[in-house]
Amino acid sequence: MHIELTEMLRCPEAHREEMLVLSTGEMRGRMVRSGLVGCPVCHKEYPISNGIVNFRRSRARVSRDEVTPVPRVHTPPSPLPTADAAKLQALLEMSGPGGYVVLIGAAVRQAPALGGLMDGVHFVGVNPPAGMAEQPMVSLLYASEKVPLRTAIARGVVVGADLAISPWLVEAHRVLLRGRRFVVESEDPELPIGLTRLAVGAGLWVGEKT
Ligand SMILES: [Zn+2]
Repeated sequence: MHIELTEMLRCPEAHREEMLVLSTGEMRGRMVRSGLVGCPVCHKEYPISNGIVNFRRSRARVSRDEVTPVPRVHTPPSPLPTADAAKLQALLEMSGPGGYVVLIGAAVRQAPALGGLMDGVHFVGVNPPAGMAEQPMVSLLYASEKVPLRTAIARGVVVGADLAISPWLVEAHRVLLRGRRFVVESEDPELPIGLTRLAVGAGLWVGEKT
């Protein structure tokens, strides 16, 4: 996780949003490879291992030795090959550097290609596909049901087909800034209210937070 992402994190427990406290272990440049993130409200602690912050409840925690995937409803292949990152960038209507784009589930694999197109944007990947590693512009988080980020901080969100279900869509909507784009890798997602549909087609649903 990039060290500056700390101020965007929130505890997934149902209490007020308060900035979490980072204790760093191993660092690699600006990336935290190991450490702990603590919540000042409920005092829960979330470990950082191999650069990935783990907000899952303890029984679903992922350790270096045992990888327990998050239950997924279905895992169709994503309709978007990585080569279509340029299309995704256009749908997100991102121009100019800075800020955060949140990718959820299978959509996280778009991060390296999007990063090549969107200089100066930091990507936050929630529940990435197995085998993905963090990169200087990609921070990875594991979570169960709640996106562990503060409300209205993302310049764009992309939800993968594997997690295009209500709890994740509601969370993706929560973290998105008003007036920004919301892309789902499914043409018929169960969408939360407060989204205006802009386009549907080619396996994608595109909306805007109103
Ligand atoms: Zn807490």
